[in-house]
Amino acid sequence: CQIVEGDELRKKLHNTILELKGNIRVFCRVRPLLQFDGDSNGPEGASISFPTSIESAGRGIDLINQGQKLSFSYDKVFDHHASQEDVFVEISQLVQSALDGYKVCIFAYGQTGSGKTYTMMGKPGIDQKGIIPRSLEQIFKTSRFLESQGWNYSMQASMLEIYNETIRDLLAPGRSNGFEMMSNKQYTIKHDPHGNTTVSELTIIDVFGIADVTSLLEKASQSRSVGRTQMNEQSSRSHFVFTLKISGSNKNTGQHVQGVLNLIDLAGSERLAKSGSTGYRLKETQSINKSLSALSDVIFAIAKGDDHVPFRNSKLTYLLQPCLGGDSKALMFVNISPDASSVGETICSLRFASRVNACEIGIPRRQT
Ligand code: ADP
Repeated sequence: CQIVEGDELRKKLHNTILELKGNIRVFCRVRPLLQFDGDSNGPEGASISFPTSIESAGRGIDLINQGQKLSFSYDKVFDHHASQEDVFVEISQLVQSALDGYKVCIFAYGQTGSGKTYTMMGKPGIDQKGIIPRSLEQIFKTSRFLESQGWNYSMQASMLEIYNETIRDLLAPGRSNGFEMMSNKQYTIKHDPHGNTTVSELTIIDVFGIADVTSLLEKASQSRSVGRTQMNEQSSRSHFVFTLKISGSNKNTGQHVQGVLNLIDLAGSERLAKSGSTGYRLKETQSINKSLSALSDVIFAIAKGDDHVPFRNSKLTYLLQPCLGGDSKALMFVNISPDASSVGETICSLRFASRVNACEIGIPRRQT
């Protein structure tokens, strides 16, 4: 393993990042079979395997359903043995590019119970930490290292959720648990011509180290609306968006950079019948489906080169608009469960992810 330091490291990183620019990367992660699952090779006769041929090793996934084999490939596939560290190693350069002034967006897509929150947030315990805490640790560590080269960074964090097309500020003073707590505030999303996004009235906190962010994450997780469905007792019914704004200046070179790191745990992508929703749950599921389909409409409109990209069709897509074009870099995790009873949802997720993987972004277009 070759070790390069300082400027050389940044140059190497920059070149790698340039290669990453211009399309949405898609990584697929299969979670292990858990106690509450059925059999991975259950009555539906579904099973997942990972091709080992040179072309597809580490990138392919095969799913056999009712005797029929479906093959998919992505930029990277993590099987059920992959640790949190294995996953983070593959994305650490992308995370770091936010310090170089890029808009970086990493989101997790998949049905409830497929491992999105585990991938993004993780669980207590050093080995179990997910992408969000690991990314923040790395950002602070690298920013300290870069101080020796004249860089000085300031960072601000905000956390929101989008629930039934309504923004909720997870760091608002006085928030506590529960669905009933609805804010009267109107959070309006605005983008300036430089692609900087503001959400009016949203709480934004200066952060100086990992301890600051950890306590904010704890506060946000208490505030999150979690509910019960037939699928997962703790299923998250909202999109969770963590944003870190990074401003850097270099006293030696006079350079200024402004980067953004958006880390997003999307609401479960399951369809109506499967989640067994009725009443307000039905409304939630419809709203989630609407915003996820708005997300796919935007991605595919960009990919097709459409003049009209329907960013405004949902709060989520409008918020993420600057991260899905121009100088930005986006990575989508598609999380899937190996459980045979989930095979229908798994196929939907894998197909959606394949289409996203084929998309090129990064060409500025008329945005509406
Ligand atoms: P989602 O956020 O998609 O609803 P979760 O992240 O809550 O799903 O995962 C559902 C369950 O599976 C949780 O108990 C979680 O700890 C576990 N899990 C998910 N992915 C993994 C993994 N890669 N390794 C071990 N356990 C996992």
